[in-house]
Amino acid sequence: MRPFEYVRAADAGQAVTLVSADPDTSYLAGGTTQLDLMKDGVLGPARLVDITRLPLGGITHTGTAVRVGATTTMEELAADPVVAERLPFVREALLLGASTQLRNLATIGGNLLQRARCRYFRDPTVEACNKRNPGSGCAAMTGFARMHAILGTSEHCIALHASDVAIPLVALDTVVHVQGMDGPRGIPLTEFHLPPGDTPHVENVLRHGELITAIEVPLLPEGARSHYLKVRDRVSYEFALTSAGTALVVEEGTIRYARVALGGVGTVPWRAWAAEDVLLGAPANRDTFHAAADAALEGARTLPGTAFKVDLARRTLVRTLETTAGVEA
Ligand code: SF4
Repeated sequence: MRPFEYVRAADAGQAVTLVSADPDTSYLAGGTTQLDLMKDGVLGPARLVDITRLPLGGITHTGTAVRVGATTTMEELAADPVVAERLPFVREALLLGASTQLRNLATIGGNLLQRARCRYFRDPTVEACNKRNPGSGCAAMTGFARMHAILGTSEHCIALHASDVAIPLVALDTVVHVQGMDGPRGIPLTEFHLPPGDTPHVENVLRHGELITAIEVPLLPEGARSHYLKVRDRVSYEFALTSAGTALVVEEGTIRYARVALGGVGTVPWRAWAAEDVLLGAPANRDTFHAAADAALEGARTLPGTAFKVDLARRTLVRTLETTAGVEA
């Protein structure tokens, strides 16, 4: 592990100033991904600025939204009674997203910034990884690709965004609040992560030094039901092969409100706008749900190792919609 300097920030302004001034300086929060990557030699910052003692945690309720401080842990958010009652699929995704130990350390801000799980990205002995080593190629294209994306990919990278909780959050039009040298700004989560395109090493719209201070999560409308389903190789401590987060309001058999996002398939937390278009105004039945799933997976690009995900993702979404709507399989 490369030696690094450790600094504990006195306030958010100092933290932003320190990190913004030096491309080799990074923030440190829960560290549950970052420290692993440093030990593996994937990341090698010269200095870490610890933000865990800053007043960036806590959950406040506005009546229409939940504002979650960036250093709030996954466990704290999962335990919030308003989240349990008004955003049940957020709670489900949090509880399925990590072990209890990790949930007590990992922060919400860090969760959104977690790095790719691609084995080639995490192995610095592999030369070809455009995300870690821009312009070097992509070992996953010709190597072992199973836990990889099928939506939003490019010829330069097919790495998956592995967050669970980002799936319901992106479905809800969550806003990410950040503070930088130019002041604060709010970024819709739907625009926060960037698909790889020609620059897989650029994963989000943050400028270097911008600090996530909070996220603002709109509550579901009254009468909405929601569900998050995660399909994986084993029941715990495993990333999603496919997942889906859905929220519906159904009135007299007709869908009046629909939010759909997919996990385990996208290079970014995948908002399935096309599926929502199919659902809105349609009868809440299996035919509609299958049509929505077909729309959600349209344009999927696969390799032999990821081809199974298209049908699995369709089935995952149909099942999630059935459960959400209370329609028997
Ligand atoms: Fe690197 Fe992306 Fe290719 Fe994985 S999929 S080897 S992260 S470029």
